[in-house]
Amino acid sequence: MDTKYIFVTGGVVSSLGKGIISASIGKLLQARGYKVTIQKFDPYINIDPGTLNPYEHGECYVTADGMETDLDLGHYERFTDIQTTRNNSVTTGRIYQAVIEKERRGDYLGKTIQVVPHITDEIKRRIKENATHEHFDFVISEIGGTIGDIESAPFMEAIRQLRWEMGRNAVSIHLTYVPYLHAAGEFKTKPTQHSVKELQSMGIQPDILILRTEHHLEENILHKVASFCNVEPECVVQSEDMPSIYEVPVNMQRQGLDIAILRKLGSPLQPDESVPGLVSWYHFLHLQQEAKEDVHIGLVGKYDLQDAYKSIRESLSLAAIYSGRKAKLHFINSEDITSDNVAEKLDGMAGIVICPGFGQRGIEGKIIAAEYTRNNDKPTFGICLGMQMMVIEFARNVLGYKDANSVEMNPATPHNVIDLMEEQKNITQKGGTMRLGAYECKLQKGSRVYEAYGEETLIKERHRHRYEFNNAYKEEYEAKGMKCVGINPDADLVEIVEIPEKRWYIGTQFHPEYCSTVLHPHPLFMSFIKACVKKNEELKN
Ligand code: GLN
Repeated sequence: MDTKYIFVTGGVVSSLGKGIISASIGKLLQARGYKVTIQKFDPYINIDPGTLNPYEHGECYVTADGMETDLDLGHYERFTDIQTTRNNSVTTGRIYQAVIEKERRGDYLGKTIQVVPHITDEIKRRIKENATHEHFDFVISEIGGTIGDIESAPFMEAIRQLRWEMGRNAVSIHLTYVPYLHAAGEFKTKPTQHSVKELQSMGIQPDILILRTEHHLEENILHKVASFCNVEPECVVQSEDMPSIYEVPVNMQRQGLDIAILRKLGSPLQPDESVPGLVSWYHFLHLQQEAKEDVHIGLVGKYDLQDAYKSIRESLSLAAIYSGRKAKLHFINSEDITSDNVAEKLDGMAGIVICPGFGQRGIEGKIIAAEYTRNNDKPTFGICLGMQMMVIEFARNVLGYKDANSVEMNPATPHNVIDLMEEQKNITQKGGTMRLGAYECKLQKGSRVYEAYGEETLIKERHRHRYEFNNAYKEEYEAKGMKCVGINPDADLVEIVEIPEKRWYIGTQFHPEYCSTVLHPHPLFMSFIKACVKKNEELKN
């Protein structure tokens, strides 16, 4: 079967959940046995989201091949269990960079370089690129931003051309918003009509419309939109607010979105009502509905924005569901934590995650939190910077190095237990200054993490950091009870620390949250939540 292309655009307002819709479409097609890949185009000029402030843009997601990407790729992976790569995340900045590099090399043979055709051709090339490396039945391309934005115009032109060139092998899906006006007691479809008009003015007739709405829309509204927008009535579906984003795929399937897509694309396989590939998904939804009892987890971090720790939040929630619990996540700003109030802030929590981060601000609060949970034997999971703060805390309060620190915080202190290692520089991928992407880690037999990973000895996890545990102090740590139980075998770097005598006190230099998916919750999060559930029972008694 030829590769088919699905373009997902959004209109009216941003934040409608295009990422979830794209991930859901991917899931539904995958459940029918098709090979799918989902890519995100971001119209901003940054080369990648790595430098974006988490306050503004939420988490930076990292692929196994070391690309810093938009958090929507996290949704794609969590929904489909398919690993994304650097080709799945493209920004305007990268498109221009590629075109300018070609221009400097003289590849364009003296031509005047213009948005059309050079930028649009580069966008088209990127859309088709994934399917040149391996076969995909469907390539889903999500275009960030909202129709009408100046920035997204070249992407729209590229889509227009591709649809023209590809005929039945391409389909355009437009996600819009239907607001409910309380004063009038009515739903309003005019913004959707305008948004579709805008799309049509760029030469794109949407094949399928998905209407985001906070309340259920009656058939007559869907019909009205269909007839005003030149779209078949079966190709207009609604995406109502759901109690959980994981219900979106089945809600889309119930309305026949996948069948509409297959029909529009003239798919050779007969669309079938029953989708055996969704059995485990339904099983998960069932567990989610059954999980009623709360488990309270504190997230000690500094970025006070839900999306800033997106993958950690999802990983905790998923692991909790598989343990029959509902994760109640409490953000605790590390900048506000002092030795005087730490007990009050953390006591009600069954477990604490000390979150990743960059820069000095808020780190002392993380160190105080690590000390408190260690002394009070509260399940604690330190991730990346969180692990580094556990290590510094241990050096200060157990090893007796009062001035222990990390070079990131204070390059002048004599006891930098977190240092910029020579080995680390050697294995850092070319060009970058950070260790990015998946690296191997050897687990120590008999450790808690070894058990958690199902007695695997060699695992692979994704990294995003500059600094490393300083091996000069390793023996002292081990002698005093903090064990280095996960080691990078190529460069002898400490990837996991654990205090075995505590119920669950583990820090990982890598980010396990990037690999937790709906159907395969990450073993470390599963093990952590189990310890939290136990602690929760004790708190209740
Ligand atoms: N800032 C720390 C480092 O660069 C930790 C980074 C992180 O938490 N992702 O090593």
